Amino acid sequence: MKLGEQEAIKSTRFQIVCHGCGSLSIKMPSLPECANSMIQCGKCGGERGTLAELQHLARRGMANFEF
Ligand SMILES: [Zn+2]
Repeated sequence: MKLGEQEAIKSTRFQIVCHGCGSLSIKMPSLPECANSMIQCGKCGGERGTLAELQHLARRGMANFEF
């Protein structure tokens, strides 16, 4: 992993669980081609984070998240 990627992960603030309603579901943007596309909560429509942040989480794995 490159240093730049580690920095990006540290700054990731994607909400795995919605802070507003507690839902895990997300609504992907219809055209998710832009890394800065905002992903909305599938339940309440609140902002959960950007597509880039979600991708960082996916690459990193879910080891730090216990469900
Ligand atoms: Zn929500």
